[in-house]
Amino acid sequence: MKKIRMTTPLVEMDGDEMTRILWKMIKDELILPFVDLKTEYYDLGLPEREKTRDRVTVESAEATKKYGVAVKCATITPNRQRVEEYNLTEMWKSPNGTIRAILDGTVFRAPILINSIRPAVRNWKKPITIARHAYGDVYKATEYRVPCPGKAELVFTDAAGHETFRQTVYDFECPGVLQGSYNKDNSIRSFAHSCFKYALQTKQDLWFSSKDTISKQYDQTFKLIFQEIYDADYKAEFEKAGITYFYTLIDDAVARVIRSEGGFIWACKNYDGDVMSDMVSTAFGSLAMMTSVLVSPDGKYEYEAAHGTVTKHYYRYLKGEQTSTNPMATIYAWTGAFRKRGELDGLPDLVAFADTLEAACIDTLQAGIMTKDLVSLVVPGTNVAAVNSLEFIRAIRGRLEQRLA
Ligand code: NAP
Ligand code: MG
Repeated sequence: MKKIRMTTPLVEMDGDEMTRILWKMIKDELILPFVDLKTEYYDLGLPEREKTRDRVTVESAEATKKYGVAVKCATITPNRQRVEEYNLTEMWKSPNGTIRAILDGTVFRAPILINSIRPAVRNWKKPITIARHAYGDVYKATEYRVPCPGKAELVFTDAAGHETFRQTVYDFECPGVLQGSYNKDNSIRSFAHSCFKYALQTKQDLWFSSKDTISKQYDQTFKLIFQEIYDADYKAEFEKAGITYFYTLIDDAVARVIRSEGGFIWACKNYDGDVMSDMVSTAFGSLAMMTSVLVSPDGKYEYEAAHGTVTKHYYRYLKGEQTSTNPMATIYAWTGAFRKRGELDGLPDLVAFADTLEAACIDTLQAGIMTKDLVSLVVPGTNVAAVNSLEFIRAIRGRLEQRLA
């Protein structure tokens, strides 16, 4: 069989623990036999991050800016326990956080659906993609536990030193709590551009929700910036693509989402996205079936699985046990990256390979061959065979070879 050609390299970001094991299996079984793989390899595994003092993470993000498409394995975000386990000289920052900051991107998460796993919400038939604005708001807020009666004020002093705003927040007659949160136009604009671009790329409607009726400056600003950017830069393209941009209040959005069939992107402010993405992913089934892509405002893409390094399985693997870790979301990170690279480079065979590999994955699952995590989720009466990770990947390979033949 002639291998599928690539022209521009993918930025390949290797990772840690069980997902690092899966990464190699996926490459050996599902990619290298079929694709003349070109990647620029960055090892984001924790030992290499330690060795390079985390420079490798920054370099991988810079490479993504240069080439435009990356595929990332899950990585450990160190905490105190990891500092001991890996003998680290520093508690290195989350690689995802570093990459997101350099690309100024937004994360889009979408579930992989199969017939035998029904979403908890009966009428959901297509994936719901959540876009979370991962900057500011309560995550960067300044908080104060008010200990006694007193006055809280909101004050703004401009760069020239003039106090241009002062307003009483509350005259406390008793102890209470106080919070000051902020966001920046730049960041909201980047978020909006990423959302409009991703909607166009995936040909899905875009919904954005906030609480502008209550938050007349803060949330209103988000709403106005989205509308302004839509009107100026995307309206014509959306109309041509036959998709819509739709703003509504967050509570109305929740009701519509539950009643919907799915098949759209829901852009959320930081806190809403944090909560809603967990709710939506749980309702669709399993974290192991959740894909994730970071999209920058200028259209750079980094594909990955939404889950982590599956540490518990890795410790079992180290003891020599077989694990049944689900590689689906990691495989889809590769197919997402191949499809995008193929589109950008005008390589229809590479795009077709991505489609075929995904179809082979779905064939395998529809045949009842699946990893253990999915067995408890399938509708009762489905014939299933629980297999380990390598058996599952080989079952996909068999179907992939058939489809490619
Ligand atoms: P996790 O790796 O997502 O795993 C949590 C649990 O979810 C697993 O123990 C497993 O449950 C189940 N699970 C997740 N993915 C699965 C898969 N592919 N197949 C089967 N089961 C799966 O989260 P974590 O244990 O909280 O974090 C582990 C490490 O990952 C941490 O060091 C964290 O920093 C890192 N992390 C990285 C990323 C990223 O790189 N994007 C994201 C999140 C976390 P059972 O044990 O019940 O089988
Ligand atoms: Mg959350």
